Amino acid sequence: MQFIDLQAQYQHLKCKIDKRIADVLNHGKYIMGPEVQELEQKLAAYVGVKHVITCGNGTDALSLALMVLNIKEGDAVFCPTFTFFATAEVISFANATPVFVDSNAQTFNICPIDLEKRIQKVIAEGVLKPRAIIAVDLFGLPANYPEIERIAKKYDLKLIEDAAQGFGGSITDVQGNTKKAGSFGDIATTSFFPAKPLGCYGDGGAVFTNNDEYAELLRSYRVHGKGSDKYDNVRIGMNSRLDTIQAAILLEKLAEFPQELISRNKAAANYENELAKQYQTPQVPTGYKSSWAQYTLLDQNRDQIMAAYKEQGIPTVIYYGICMHQQTAFVDLGYQSGDFPIAEKLAKQVFSLPMHPYITKVQCF
Ligand SMILES: *Cc1c(COP(=O)(O)O)cnc(C)c1O
Repeated sequence: MQFIDLQAQYQHLKCKIDKRIADVLNHGKYIMGPEVQELEQKLAAYVGVKHVITCGNGTDALSLALMVLNIKEGDAVFCPTFTFFATAEVISFANATPVFVDSNAQTFNICPIDLEKRIQKVIAEGVLKPRAIIAVDLFGLPANYPEIERIAKKYDLKLIEDAAQGFGGSITDVQGNTKKAGSFGDIATTSFFPAKPLGCYGDGGAVFTNNDEYAELLRSYRVHGKGSDKYDNVRIGMNSRLDTIQAAILLEKLAEFPQELISRNKAAANYENELAKQYQTPQVPTGYKSSWAQYTLLDQNRDQIMAAYKEQGIPTVIYYGICMHQQTAFVDLGYQSGDFPIAEKLAKQVFSLPMHPYITKVQCF
């Protein structure tokens, strides 16, 4: 059994994907070909945002967002300590300082109460300038945006949604209005790494925004800070475009995505039925929808449980065993063990089961 069965998905979509790839090989516009623009329009329509700017990967998407917001040395950017490394890495890469925040014990997402405490601490210390928050839709579940947006507004901070795992998730408010992942905050980002809910066959990413000015800057930054044409360079940017072939593949995968989301939710419901008695199963708050990038459980005896699954031929993976404040790359920030009690407990106890839309039946115990 595969942890994420990309081969099953390819077999299901093979005719369509092969034809799309052949089209690109025939027209030959390998960089910024027509499929890139078509995909950007379709992604914008799906997520419900004005602008989508595709790029080379999800990490660059975050870096592009920080460039647009002019995040620089001396700035504090708040992000969860329990996340994938890229979320925090891009902050240091922009020469700003990541300020880590503990997690919510039920959702595993950034804890708004701890977020506010850490913002107040940075203000009281008076060394760094609080500038932005990067919230992460961990394992497919959107972060608590109603609360995070309120805090961002209160402290005049920009909000970035890292929807690398969250694409396809949503939040419906009490009035019945639904907002999809990729539409929260000032700028949102995603990744098309093959194992993400919407993945291509290589690296890829995208940035989402409703802000016209940001969109124009993003289109410039992704091609060497181009001005009116690509040999007129008006700012320092990067080279981060989505390959036309990857856009072509994503067009077929996006068309199938709503159906896959239903299958993922069925798989999660099956797990819930079988496992809720033994484990703390994933909590999806009322009104929220997860895209189930991962199906993650908690257990104090995770090593034994993972070994037992392995014996049955069921692969399990730990996402994530090391928090950001425990990473060697961030020792200079001076955090200590015990600074983030919930995230540290998660790092010790989490493990994820196979999850993908083509999963049939996993025998659980
Ligand atoms: C995968 C991931 C990224 C980075 O995406 P890449 O395309 O691999 O660069 C960023 N943030 C989170 C939360 C991720 O899971």
